[in-house]
Amino acid sequence: MNVLIRSIFALTLTLFGTVQVANAQAANISPVAQHGKLSVVGQHIRDQNRQITSLAGPSFFWSNTGWGQDRFYTAGAVETFAKDWNAGIVRAAMGAQNDGSYLDDENGNITRVQTIIDAAIANGLYVIVDWHSHQAERDTAKAVEFFTAVANAYGHTPNLIYEIYNEPLNTTDWATDVKPYAETVISAIRKVDPDNLIIVGTTSWAQDVDTAADDPITGQSNILYSLHFYAATHKKDLRKRAEYAIGKGLPLIISEWGSVTYSGDGLMDEKSTHKWMGFAKKHGLSHLNWSVSDKDETASMFKPGASSNGGWTTQDLTPSGRMVRDIMRDW
Ligand code: MG
Repeated sequence: MNVLIRSIFALTLTLFGTVQVANAQAANISPVAQHGKLSVVGQHIRDQNRQITSLAGPSFFWSNTGWGQDRFYTAGAVETFAKDWNAGIVRAAMGAQNDGSYLDDENGNITRVQTIIDAAIANGLYVIVDWHSHQAERDTAKAVEFFTAVANAYGHTPNLIYEIYNEPLNTTDWATDVKPYAETVISAIRKVDPDNLIIVGTTSWAQDVDTAADDPITGQSNILYSLHFYAATHKKDLRKRAEYAIGKGLPLIISEWGSVTYSGDGLMDEKSTHKWMGFAKKHGLSHLNWSVSDKDETASMFKPGASSNGGWTTQDLTPSGRMVRDIMRDW
C-alpha cells in the first residue's frame, strides 16, 4: 500500500467511525430529550430549538373496559413502539362514551390511560391523551373533571398533549356546540397548565378544518386542530380542505388516520396512504395511526392473539401493521 492509499484508507476508517458514533448517539436520544418542550408557532409544532417538529406514532384503541383492545394498554406495548417502531408519540384513547367508558368505569380507564402516559414518559415519547367521544359536549363537566386531573398530574412534563374531543359528528355545529365546549375545557386546563399543546376536534369526524379555519379559537396559545383521514375513503377533496385551512394559518395535526375505509375495515389503500404521508411530510404534520388492536378489522395492526405486552415480530402484524411500522421507522 503506498502512502496515498494508506491515508485514504485511514480517512475512510475515521469517517466510518464518526458516522457510527453519530448514529449511536442519535439512537440513544429519545424524542423528548431531542425536542423538549413543544409549542405552536404559526401553523407548526416547533421544538425547544424552534425547529418544525413532525412526529409519527400509533393510536391505541378505545380504552373501554371489556371491549378487548383495552388489554394493549401496557408499558410493554409502549416500549416496543419506542424501541422497535421508532415512534415519537403515542395516543391513549380514553373511552368517553358507550359501555365501559370513563363515564361507567372511571378507575379502570384511568389506570389504563395512566399506564400509557407513564410508559411514554419512561421511554421519552410524547403522549396524546384523547377524550375519545363523538358527543363530548353532552358531558362537558366530565371532560373538565378529567382534564383538570390530567393537567394536575402531568401538565409539568414536556411529554403531555391534550386532545379534548376525538370526533364531533357531522350533525354537531362548530360555532354553537364544539367551539363553546372547547373554550370551556381549554380554560379549565389553562388554570392548571399554562402551556402544553391542546388539540381541538373539528366537526364531521375531524374533517371540517375549513370551518375551524374560518372561525378559530382566539385568545389562547398552543392550540392545534385535528384532521382525521381514512386513506381508502378520503383523498384529494379532503387534502384540498386541509390546504385551505393551512393557507389561512390553521395549525393541524393528524391525530388519527387509517390505511383503510372510514369504518376501520374494508380495503387497505396503500397508494392513497403514501399520498397522505407525502402531504404530512410536505406540511410538517404529525400523525398517529389507528389502531393498536387485534380486532378482526383491517385497520388493526395486529393479528388475533398478538401479545398485550409488546415484543411483537413481523409475523404478528397485519398488512396494515407492517406498512405502518415501515412508515414510522422511516419517518
Ligand atoms: Mg405545562
